[in-house]
Amino acid sequence: MSLLAEDTDVADLGLRWKPGFAALGPAFLTHLRPTPLPDPYWVGHSEAVARELGLPADWRQSDITLAALTGSLPIAGTNPFATVYSGHQFGVWAGQLGDGRAIMLGETEGGLEVQLKGAGRTPYSRGGDGRAVLRSSIREFLCSEAMHGLGIPTTRALSVTGSDARVFREEPESAAVVARVAPSFIRFGHFEHFAANQREGELRALADYVIDRYYPACRTTDRFNGNAYAGFLEAVSERTAALLAQWQAVGFCHGVMNTDNMSILGLTIDYGPFQFLDGFDPRHICNHSDTSGRYAFNQQPNVAYWNLFCLAQALLPLIGDQEVAVAALESYKTVFPNAFEARMRAKLGLADSAESDRALIEGALKLLAAGKVDYTIFWRRLSQYMADGNAEPVRDMFLDRAGFDTWLLSFSERHAQSVRSEATGLMLRSNPKYVLRNHLGQQAIEAAGQKDFSGVATLLTLLETPFEEHPGANAYAGFPPDWASTIEISCSS
Ligand code: AMP
Ligand code: MG
Repeated sequence: MSLLAEDTDVADLGLRWKPGFAALGPAFLTHLRPTPLPDPYWVGHSEAVARELGLPADWRQSDITLAALTGSLPIAGTNPFATVYSGHQFGVWAGQLGDGRAIMLGETEGGLEVQLKGAGRTPYSRGGDGRAVLRSSIREFLCSEAMHGLGIPTTRALSVTGSDARVFREEPESAAVVARVAPSFIRFGHFEHFAANQREGELRALADYVIDRYYPACRTTDRFNGNAYAGFLEAVSERTAALLAQWQAVGFCHGVMNTDNMSILGLTIDYGPFQFLDGFDPRHICNHSDTSGRYAFNQQPNVAYWNLFCLAQALLPLIGDQEVAVAALESYKTVFPNAFEARMRAKLGLADSAESDRALIEGALKLLAAGKVDYTIFWRRLSQYMADGNAEPVRDMFLDRAGFDTWLLSFSERHAQSVRSEATGLMLRSNPKYVLRNHLGQQAIEAAGQKDFSGVATLLTLLETPFEEHPGANAYAGFPPDWASTIEISCSS
């Protein structure tokens, strides 16, 4: 069965496109076509993203769309391209990288860029094959939508399409393409690229483009004597700080926080060896390739700051003064802890703040770490305790019962003036029941390998609204099975 419509040489998705990033010109990108994959099939899709893009209601009915989103058929109105960037990987300057397997279709009139990840080689592929494997594509698809469901800024994913074409990693695997969507895929590494190559004209053009498009308030800022580039750096720092606060509060470990995986818009981007914590371990390393633990869970906020420092260095020729550049990073040190505390207060059901909150938060995290208590289940059970007053299900999670009782006492005292129903509501809105645990993704991936895509669809439904109860789905909200700890997720994708 060939799904390529033989009498059609271009697909019309019913979208209008504009040049977007491509208007920056050839120094920034290379136009090229995706490399077709044979006999594509749907693996997963998001109606929510389709609606945001403005696709017609029947967008999935056509095999032409399927072929187009797999890169096998050109899309009317697009002139695809891959962009160049550089970056620091694991703390070391890696030189030129670039979109080695993500091919940008363009930007829709609604202001969303669409990329096909895994759509073939580009001039930036270096030794790579330009492909993505099914397992990592399912993980990226589900986690993008899970993060969005959690209210965490992220690139989105419209679809995953697969093909039986073989791709070789440690062993042969099947190929897949993720159609991913974001207002911009620009990374810190894009700026580092032009700074490192002393191409100040392009560096300025890129910064001006990003400021005008995404940070227009920097043009009129009073901060830094009206230095728009410093204001821009500060705004990026603050968005990054707010993002990291959300990651830390929800227990999300990114796994590869290289500067080329840092979004200039403060979005979660490039889902590789990520993991939502099971048992709470601040030093957890989710990336099997990260032998030194550079990207351990509790290192993430500092690494983000380190990455911002690289961005500051790249922007220095535009900012013009090292002290101003350093000053523009300063607010990270207050925005991050404040945002983190605010998130944790919400998890605790506290609508206002008190001096003692920090100790309450730290006390909880210390107890969770000591007992490696399941992070997501603890918070959801605590929310339930707020609703029904029964502490046993939470208490049962701790070996150190006395320690927990002491903490619960201060928690209850802090809530003495609270309206219980309001606190419960806040907690249930702040503590998800469903997160994309490794083993859940793994089960969906294994079924998808047998062409059963129902697991992907079920997870998507739960993760799109992770704070809701979803009666009948408790199996997806339980403790991870023993084998979950043996799953090894590396950079191989
Ligand atoms: P990542 O670790 O996924 O962020 O990728 C780092 C760099 O390697 C980026 O420039 C990617 O485009 C590139 N890359 C990763 N995998 C491949 C592949 N299979 N083919 C070509 N380039 C790749
Ligand atoms: Mg990357």
